[in-house]
Amino acid sequence: MNRKRIVGAVAVSAACALLACVGHVLSVEKNGVVVDAEGNEIARLMYDNRMDDGQTVRYDCEDGYEAYIDLACREAAKILCDREGVREAEAFQMLVEEEMTIQTTLCQDVMKGLLDVCGEEQTPSGILVSERCAAVGDTKGHILACYSHSVEDASRNYVTYPTYAGSTIKSLSVYGPAVEDDVVCWSDLYMDSAYCRIVNADGEEADWPVNTRNYTNRMWTVQEALKKSNNAIAVKILKDYGVGNSCRFIREAFGLKTEAEERAVLEGKEDDVLSNIALGYLEAGVTMRDLMGGYQTFANGGSYTPMHAVTAIKSGSGAEYYKEDFEVTRVFSAETAYIMNRMLKTVVEEGGTGAAAFIEGLDICGKTGTSDESRDNWFVGMTPEYVCAVWYRLPRAGMENESPAVFREIMERMEHRKEIGYQKPEDVVEVAYCEKTGLLANDFCVERQNGYYKKQNMPEKCDCR
Ligand SMILES: [Zn+2]
Repeated sequence: MNRKRIVGAVAVSAACALLACVGHVLSVEKNGVVVDAEGNEIARLMYDNRMDDGQTVRYDCEDGYEAYIDLACREAAKILCDREGVREAEAFQMLVEEEMTIQTTLCQDVMKGLLDVCGEEQTPSGILVSERCAAVGDTKGHILACYSHSVEDASRNYVTYPTYAGSTIKSLSVYGPAVEDDVVCWSDLYMDSAYCRIVNADGEEADWPVNTRNYTNRMWTVQEALKKSNNAIAVKILKDYGVGNSCRFIREAFGLKTEAEERAVLEGKEDDVLSNIALGYLEAGVTMRDLMGGYQTFANGGSYTPMHAVTAIKSGSGAEYYKEDFEVTRVFSAETAYIMNRMLKTVVEEGGTGAAAFIEGLDICGKTGTSDESRDNWFVGMTPEYVCAVWYRLPRAGMENESPAVFREIMERMEHRKEIGYQKPEDVVEVAYCEKTGLLANDFCVERQNGYYKKQNMPEKCDCR
């Protein structure tokens, strides 16, 4: 195994340094161990003999595995902190001192495919990218593999690093909850035009929010707005659903931090936080792990489990110290989850912002996002078995989002059980709607498309003649 030395943690406070130090002297050879889903060792935790403090813990692992090991060790330490009332540094020491084994969900085949794609310094089209990250999970909260690379700060793990999610947030904060509460359906129409006028940075009046392309000043369906990531319509749907409602929803459903936004709403300044909620600029940021947690619900029929890597912790004697026991919460009805799933499928079809993620024969859906003038590029995608998030930070503004193509390359390296599909609930129907009115098509409607609807929230019949 090609091992690499990484300093994984943290000096402890003076108060406990002595205790830890004594323990260290008595147990130079002690190790904690991290194992993959099959029980194979993937990392070893030990005291770092190079450090004078005698209690800094480091880990050894194979190149490229650092982000996963960091994630798993911190998760295990958090479990120890909660149970023993100790601080993180002390928890790391316990893992070594008690020779604990951390069992994880890491899948070697998925990890190898991920490294094959993201270990490269460049995007599929050959642009050099120093800051990048990707992760693959199943649809039940397990992180199977992840990779994070940062030149800015080598210890930064972008899987858990809060940042702006851009338009990937829209499904979680706007479309999902609005479909859930029957505020909108597939073919409701919204005008593609400015929501309001603002004074921009140059002191001039301007339309807000802008889209990637100019306003068309025509009516778009909800589905088309999601497919093409229309900002103005996302803001309008958010207003119809309620800004405060959305804050509460993403906090309660996905654990996102919305304190600043909820304060603004209480102070009557909800229009000040429209871009936070609708366009992915939450003040506290969102992590890749958060996004995967949210999007798994569109693949698994509406259930949320926090994304995690640790399934069990065993003590040195082999006794079970911890076993995962997450409460699975229903955040969307099966009907909402399926309708969102079908809408997100159109994102990877022709004309959608994520078309580069499409793979023939695999039922893929997902959503793109960009922030910082398109330097930060996201794609969060799903198959019936997996959820995968990709984030690449490009060297310049205004370049094309290649994260959907990275997603495709990762998926192409993985095994897929083609017989598995998404479950269509009985109370969802696929029917034709009239493109002119967004209402259910009658025999006279000329331009028609299929949409997915809840039986209890069907549009009326169109009156074309
Ligand atoms: Zn019609």
